[in-house]
Amino acid sequence: MTYKTHLSTGLLFSSVVFLLIYKIELAPALVFLLIISTVLGSSAPDLDTPTGELWDKIPGGSLISRIVNPVFIGGHRHLSHSFIGLGIFTGLFYLLLKVIPYEPAAHNFGLIILAYITGHLSHIFADLFTEAGVPLLFPLGYHFGIPPVEKMRIKTGRWFENLIVYPAVNLVLILVIYMYIKGAK
Ligand SMILES: [Zn+2]
Repeated sequence: MTYKTHLSTGLLFSSVVFLLIYKIELAPALVFLLIISTVLGSSAPDLDTPTGELWDKIPGGSLISRIVNPVFIGGHRHLSHSFIGLGIFTGLFYLLLKVIPYEPAAHNFGLIILAYITGHLSHIFADLFTEAGVPLLFPLGYHFGIPPVEKMRIKTGRWFENLIVYPAVNLVLILVIYMYIKGAK
């Protein structure tokens, strides 16, 4: 999937977790942190693409991507799209969070980590529907996909993603936020 679809899917998953399941009280600082963590989680798996859209948005991104890339072992859609990768990335995010001297972050540690995991999982989930699938059990090479027949899956960046999947995800996202606001009244 493309970056924009991953962002919307991440926000949708997070909204379901925090607004519908946890029904948290939304303080502005917490909302800000949850959104940032979700965005990081849903973006992180594709940092293994040296030419990824995300890198183009960062100044000097293409240079950084070449330095960071070896960390991701073997290029696109490997470690970062697996359960082991999810664990390692969450650990790194945890360490990052520990060194940030921002009080609301310390207060809501668990929720913020959960937002990251939700974003990262949403990314892996969305990529399951693409032709390439995902190596959930990396370092085992097998790529999982839904449906199992590769030809029936979505081609990244083509009309089906742009005209059906992306608008549908955003529509459901709006619906979830609407349900939360209506329920909160
Ligand atoms: Zn991906």
